[in-house]
Amino acid sequence: MKIVFNYKNIFLSVSLIAITSLIYLKISYKYAIGADDNNSEFVNKIVILGSGTAGLSSGIYAGRAKLNPVLIEGDYPGGQLVKAGVIENWPGISAIAGSQLAQELKMQATEYGTKFISDNVNKVDFSKKPFKIYLNDGTKILANSVIIATGRKPRKLNCPGEDKYLSKGLAVCALCDAPLFKNKKVALIGGNISALREIEILSKYTKDIIIINRDPEIKGPSSWLNRLKENKNIKVMNNTIAKEILGNEKWVTGVKVLDKKTNKEEIIPVQGVFVCIGWNPSSELFEKILELDSKKQIKVFNQTHTSIPGIFAAGDVTNITYHQAPVASSFGYMAGMDAEKYISSIK
Ligand SMILES: Cc1cc2nc3c(=O)[nH]c(=O)nc-3n(C[C@H](O)[C@H](O)[C@H](O)COP(=O)(O)OP(=O)(O)OC[C@H]3O[C@@H](n4cnc5c(N)ncnc54)[C@H](O)[C@@H]3O)c2cc1C
Repeated sequence: MKIVFNYKNIFLSVSLIAITSLIYLKISYKYAIGADDNNSEFVNKIVILGSGTAGLSSGIYAGRAKLNPVLIEGDYPGGQLVKAGVIENWPGISAIAGSQLAQELKMQATEYGTKFISDNVNKVDFSKKPFKIYLNDGTKILANSVIIATGRKPRKLNCPGEDKYLSKGLAVCALCDAPLFKNKKVALIGGNISALREIEILSKYTKDIIIINRDPEIKGPSSWLNRLKENKNIKVMNNTIAKEILGNEKWVTGVKVLDKKTNKEEIIPVQGVFVCIGWNPSSELFEKILELDSKKQIKVFNQTHTSIPGIFAAGDVTNITYHQAPVASSFGYMAGMDAEKYISSIK
């Protein structure tokens, strides 16, 4: 056969390849969300929202239970683990990079049949069954049960250097990272109960701590405040705002602060910074739909059940306040088991 290379043939070939690829992508996507061949009204047994430790663990359980779970990854595939640096408290592994652990969990969930969708949920309708989940790209997904594992986000200072030095000397969790700052000079930014809780932990590892607090005084339970006063090694700078996190590209080297009273800026040299100004659960989508507590965390009853039967929640988005990866994982598994029980009860 003689092939003639002219513009018409090239155009036809390119169009054919493009159309075939589009059809392939559409079919793969349809199967990824579990839609059948005729329409997109296929009802999934279980849809998981979030790809952090809790969501991935739910995916592993539900996949092994042959529930064909669909998991929506959200903006942060892997969740907090990816930013966590080295994890030293995962049972059975003495040290593993958080990002590697997230990858391994995803691989395990995929092996057991969890379908991943790389998109964000922007609306849910849990008013009647099947439950509806809407993605940013306009897709609607139906489900008989949903596991919410959307985690939480640390409140940010929103100052230069903050994102750049996260996990490079800037930490947000003393329980997780304090051992990395043993005997180092550290600034802790914050001035309420979250900060006090972190100081209790951090002060076991280093004596050289400076608290940078934008308010006139630190607020918290008197017993904790008394302990703070008694600890002569901890210096407190009240009425002081952290303006910038400084570093040498590889690691934090200091904090630029502003004294609100004198309006003077100063650079405080440190080897580590803890930002402890609280956390926000990623629960905005569920306000007025599910019962939330005063901190806007999803209330769970009887382990992972929420206020709506068939909707389960696990990990840091809930009012189970342990906020550690192995705990989020365990609750992810529990949510998978509770969802499985629920699905078989409605058959
Ligand atoms: C810097 C740092 C260090 C840490 N170090 C340790 C440690 O050493 N040891 C330890 O045990 N724990 C540590 N932790 C805590 C631990 O990582 C968390 O407790 C745990 O990973 C929480 O998992 P999660 O699945 O509940 O939530 P997250 O990890 O917060 O995951 C939430 C997921 O939900 C997704 N999501 C959010 N909104 C939507 C939406 N609208 N649609 C779809 N998806 C959405 C996000 O994309 C993300 O994938 C650390 C945390 C941080 C930040």
